[in-house]
Amino acid sequence: MEYPHLKIQDPKLYEIIKAEEARQKEGLELIASENYVSPAVLEAMGSVLTNKYSEGYPGKRYYGGNRVIDEAENLAIERAKELFGAEAVNVQPLSGSPANMAVYMALLNPGDKVLGLSLDQGGHLSHGHPLNFSGKLYQIIPYFLKKENELIDMDEVEAIALREKPKMILAGFSAYSRNMDWKRFKEIADKIGAHTFADIAHIAGLIAGKQLESPVPYFDVVSTTTHKTLRGPRGAIIMSREQFAPAINKAVFPGIQGGPHDHINAAKAVAFGEALRPEFRDYSAQIIKNAQRLAQALANRGFRIISGGTDNHLMLVDVFGSKNITGKEAEHVLEEIGISINKNMIPYDTRKPLDPSGIRLGTAALTTRGMKEAHMDTVAEFIDAALANKDNAAELENLARKVKRFSVDFPVPA
Ligand SMILES: *Cc1c(COP(=O)(O)O)cnc(C)c1O
Repeated sequence: MEYPHLKIQDPKLYEIIKAEEARQKEGLELIASENYVSPAVLEAMGSVLTNKYSEGYPGKRYYGGNRVIDEAENLAIERAKELFGAEAVNVQPLSGSPANMAVYMALLNPGDKVLGLSLDQGGHLSHGHPLNFSGKLYQIIPYFLKKENELIDMDEVEAIALREKPKMILAGFSAYSRNMDWKRFKEIADKIGAHTFADIAHIAGLIAGKQLESPVPYFDVVSTTTHKTLRGPRGAIIMSREQFAPAINKAVFPGIQGGPHDHINAAKAVAFGEALRPEFRDYSAQIIKNAQRLAQALANRGFRIISGGTDNHLMLVDVFGSKNITGKEAEHVLEEIGISINKNMIPYDTRKPLDPSGIRLGTAALTTRGMKEAHMDTVAEFIDAALANKDNAAELENLARKVKRFSVDFPVPA
């Protein structure tokens, strides 16, 4: 991209942005929560809509001059409703964590019990980490994966729910590669009169692209970030049944936030428009094909994939168990050759969060760059070679050159 004004006015920051642009082009992005937005999304984000203050909601603002902003926000809302089949949508959450905070505030009182996936087995910080608002303000009861198959054990979820009677059941994850049984979660919640809250931050794009089942028909409330597989600007939305919409809206504003980020909400509208096109179905189908191929290619090279594979865009790899290299070491070595991934706890990990046994890989970003299954074999080869040569500086340099040569053939949208 060109930044003619920045280049003259602020060359220092211009160089920083150019360096990041080069890093994104020349490396392989396998962080499961990242993606590359389209130039149209970038343009909306860089638009003059950032100049406006519009506390409130369309038609009910605390400031004048919002007729045009109302149109933009309504467009985002209407497209999100169409994309997910939701009854009501709030597009103002600034990001996934504040969106989730608004859901807790709308449905619960401090101290209430919430059932959520254990954080060290795939849950998100906002699902009850002791240092997060969720863990401080609410009583989080975790459910776990079955040790033998590393899958969510719905019978255990039911047993815990019947015993603990939580006020809300939370289904969602940051690091779980298998399909969710949304219907069963809802049936369990109905037995105890609990609210149902799905956090589809990671898989929203795969649901929008009709590749994975949606919780929207079953759940009271569904939140998602807009910047992961959904491939929009950094931000989030909250979908809900009509009856919960007033409480959700109040919790977002004035409960947590002030003025919405109108330029970002406009970019959400652009991204939803893109996701409504038939090409987006092909894109999301390809993400999953690529993830399954990458998992298979790594397994063929002796890596243990958690739960044996993936149904979505991500996978957890037990690098410590497979190759005696820690997640932290793997992250470091791969970064040296231009591959971005993150270390991650695996279920029942015996190591610590800052140096766990696993790594998490995702294929949404590489798929945006046009990669197909055969390219995943090459990516697996790079990963395997780097980890096998972690102490061989010359070989790592050689691999870094190969990664760069391979990457630049797949253009980053800009
Ligand atoms: C990424 C993520 C979030 C938080 O999103 P931020 O925008 O980083 O605050 C919330 N929930 C889940 C499940 C996520 O994966």
